[in-house]
Amino acid sequence: MHIAIIGVGRVGAALAFRLIFEPYIDELTLVDIIPGLAGVVKEDIYHGLATYGLDMRINSYDDCRHVENADMIVITAGVARKPSESRRDLAEKNSKIIYDIIECLADRNPKAWYVIITNPVDALATLVSKLLGDSKRVIGTGTSLDTTRFRCAISRSIGVPLSYVEAYTGGEHGEHVVLLWSTVHICGMPLDEYLSSSGKQIDKKDITNYVKNISSKIISMQGGTMWGPAIVFSEIIKNIILNTGRIMSVSTLRKFKEISEPVHVTIPTKVGWSIGPDIWNILDRREQEEIVRAAEAIYKTYMICLKSLKSP
Ligand code: NAD
Repeated sequence: MHIAIIGVGRVGAALAFRLIFEPYIDELTLVDIIPGLAGVVKEDIYHGLATYGLDMRINSYDDCRHVENADMIVITAGVARKPSESRRDLAEKNSKIIYDIIECLADRNPKAWYVIITNPVDALATLVSKLLGDSKRVIGTGTSLDTTRFRCAISRSIGVPLSYVEAYTGGEHGEHVVLLWSTVHICGMPLDEYLSSSGKQIDKKDITNYVKNISSKIISMQGGTMWGPAIVFSEIIKNIILNTGRIMSVSTLRKFKEISEPVHVTIPTKVGWSIGPDIWNILDRREQEEIVRAAEAIYKTYMICLKSLKSP
C-alpha cells in the first residue's frame, strides 16, 4: 500500500509519523514545495523506524510530478490559518494550490483515493471531486476532528471516561459545524436517558464553545493543531484501506434541493472501500436543517474557490 502525503508541515509530518506504525502501509511518499523539507522529515522518521527495526520505504520530493501510482493521496499542502482568521479566509490561496496539485497528480495516479485535509476542507474537497470528475474516490476529512473535540468536551462535562462516549458532528468543518446531540450515547444509553438516570447535568453551550473555539487556542499557543489531526486522519485512512465500515464524520459529495450543485458536507457515514450508508435518516429534523445550512455555506466558499481560479 503506497500512500503519498502532499505538504509535510505540521499536520502532514505528524500524520506521516503516525502512519509508520500501520503495518498495511509499505511505501510512504512525502512531498513539500519547500526545498529539502520532505527530505529531512523523511530522515527524522527513518531514525524512529530504525529504533523498532521497521521496514518501510519512504520517498521524499520537492515536486508532485515524481508521485506515481499511489494508492492514496493525502493533501495537507497549503496555507494554514492564523488565530484571527476563519478557515474560509484561506479559500483563495489554497484553491490555487490544490488546483495545481491535482493537475499534476491526476494522470500519474489513476487509481488513487484522495483524502483532503487542507482548509477550507469541505469546499476544497468539492473542488477536487469536480476536477477529477469522480467523487467516489474523494473524501474530505470534514468534521472528523470536531467530532473528537465534541467527545472530549462531553466526557469532561459529565465526568465520564472518554471510552463511554459515542457522539458525532456533521455539517461544515468550522463555523457551521453541527453538534449532533441525537447521536450522543453514554455507555450505549441515549444522552437524555443517561442524564435522568444519573442525575447529572450537561452544559451544552460550554461544549459548543469548546468545539468551535479550541483550535484557535491551540493555533495561538502551538502554531497549529497536529496531534489530534494526525490520529483522527490516520483512522480515516485505516478505515478506508481495511474496509472496516466504521462510522466517521467525513465529508462526501451530497446534493440538496436548496443548492444548485452537490457539495462535500459531513453526514456521519460508514467508511470503507465504498462510502455509506450514512446516518441522515436517524437525525432529527433540526439537525438535518442545520446540515443543509452548512452545505449552503460550503457552496458559497466553493464559489469563492472557483472565482479565484479564474482570476490571474
Ligand atoms: P503548515 O504551514 O505547517 O504546512 C503546510 C505545508 O504545505 C507547508 O510545509 C508548505 O510548504 C506546504 N505546501 C504549500 N504549497 C505546497 C505545494 N504546492 N506542494 C507541496 N507542499 C506545499 O500548515 P499545517 O498546520 O500543516 O496545515 C496544513 C493545512 O491543513 C492548512 O490548510 C490547515 O488549515 C489544514 N488543517 C485542516 C484540518 C482539518 O480538520 N481539515 C486540521 C488541521 C489543519
